[in-house]
Amino acid sequence: MKKLFQLVLTFFTSLTIMSQTASDTKLVVSIVVDQMRADYLTRYSHLYEGGFKTLLEDGEVFWNAHHTHVPTYTAPGHASIYTGTDPRFHGIIGNNWYVPSIGKTTYCLEDLDVSPIGTSSKYAKRSPKNIHSTTWTDELEWASNKKSKIFAFSLKDRGAICAAGHYGDAAFWLGKSGFISSSHYMSSLPKWLINFNQKNSLESYMNGKWDYLIDKNNYPEIHSTAFERIPSGARKADFPYDLSLLFNADTSGIEAFKTTPKGNQILLDVALETLKKEKLGIHKNRFPDVLAISFSATDYIGHGTGIRSHETMDMYLRLDRQLDTLFEYLNKNIGKDNFIVILTADHGASDNPSQAKLDGMPVDWMAPADLESEFRELITAAGVPSEFILNFSNEQVYIQENDSLESIQKIVRNALLKHPAIAESWTKDEIREASEPFALMRKNGSDKRSGQVFYSLYPGSIAYYKTGTTHGSGYTYDTHVPIIFFGGIFHSPENHNERINVKDIAPTLSHILKIAQPSASNGKILPLKFN
Ligand SMILES: [Zn+2]
Repeated sequence: MKKLFQLVLTFFTSLTIMSQTASDTKLVVSIVVDQMRADYLTRYSHLYEGGFKTLLEDGEVFWNAHHTHVPTYTAPGHASIYTGTDPRFHGIIGNNWYVPSIGKTTYCLEDLDVSPIGTSSKYAKRSPKNIHSTTWTDELEWASNKKSKIFAFSLKDRGAICAAGHYGDAAFWLGKSGFISSSHYMSSLPKWLINFNQKNSLESYMNGKWDYLIDKNNYPEIHSTAFERIPSGARKADFPYDLSLLFNADTSGIEAFKTTPKGNQILLDVALETLKKEKLGIHKNRFPDVLAISFSATDYIGHGTGIRSHETMDMYLRLDRQLDTLFEYLNKNIGKDNFIVILTADHGASDNPSQAKLDGMPVDWMAPADLESEFRELITAAGVPSEFILNFSNEQVYIQENDSLESIQKIVRNALLKHPAIAESWTKDEIREASEPFALMRKNGSDKRSGQVFYSLYPGSIAYYKTGTTHGSGYTYDTHVPIIFFGGIFHSPENHNERINVKDIAPTLSHILKIAQPSASNGKILPLKFN
């Protein structure tokens, strides 16, 4: 009897395993939460009851995942997630970088050879042409003979384009009148999206109040709004906010919109519409479709109010519920064994230094322009003519090409080291030889487009607005992000504590989906248990 029971059990176990294999995956949902620090998973975990709770309980969670490049900005982060390599090889070394030959700063995805689609704005002249390597989504298009449908959405063009890659069907980002794209991907917006844009105007979302989602007593008691930015149209940086006042106080409305939970809501709404209208995940192909979403409202609110504000916390509680709606839809319509979800972030963020200083931390806030003029003074005092110093950006100094560049780099590096806010500085030659972790992250984060001298402030210090916060450094608060895999093929929830890298996601997905790794991928395959 016992033997028979065991036999029946084995039969059913193998049946379950057989029914959920990676090659049966019909849809990959790739979620990047902009500016999500790893500790947001634990800090609010007792209040999560939706998507984050599901991911934490049923997913394979990597608790010690880090970005491996500096600067930790949005575009380098997204590009590293999808290419499985560092900016040194994928080429997206910043959101912007200085181009000495034209004496101007350029935007990472600007492409004047493409046309805006769904808008006439020149800000939609965007393409992945500066991304040197393939993404895992590109490799999926190759493997599936273009049968996989790949749709990417974000409030920001860089959050969508880095995901859709070179060959994906579509990258859409938010313009004033809805989601837009560029001629790199299509010649016109799909009809259903034009309808969606008409029905879902930004204005239609911006009414009523943004107030505490749950009882106010659940939010931190020790709470100062002194270093939070007061949005135009509001009297103070505190709940409740009148959404139509915020919307109307902003000339285009879009900046106000993106800084509220409505920014994530429209992404959820358009994602559900895409699943329905494009029938993503409902097909008999060997390879899955992809829905990539970057929830970017979290970044805007983080920049405005910091990492400990009630607004940031509330945004995450709402995102937890929004993700639940998405997962419910997927369970019901795609089937829980037929999709996988991967969630991560493009970077973290620092504490507001002025607040931290009041709380006793020896950190500093600096205005970027002041810091730059102090640097210039030190450099000219060291004997380098000021016209040789072309630009400061991404914690790099661009120096005029000249015969004594090698010695000038060293003089500039030594001059910067004299500044009390500077923890470390390196010349480009030193970066090339780097093996020490912080210098190595600079090496990973730079290429021929970068400057000639690099520097880091001390941990916790930032050069930014006095209110809110930012990111970009190589310190833990900027590099440490969540990575969670979830879905039918991952057969047991697991906590992984070993230190892993964000660039491991792409080769891992390649392994799971049985496709080639992206062209410059140098990450490793993560130890997931899947069928
Ligand atoms: Zn940001």
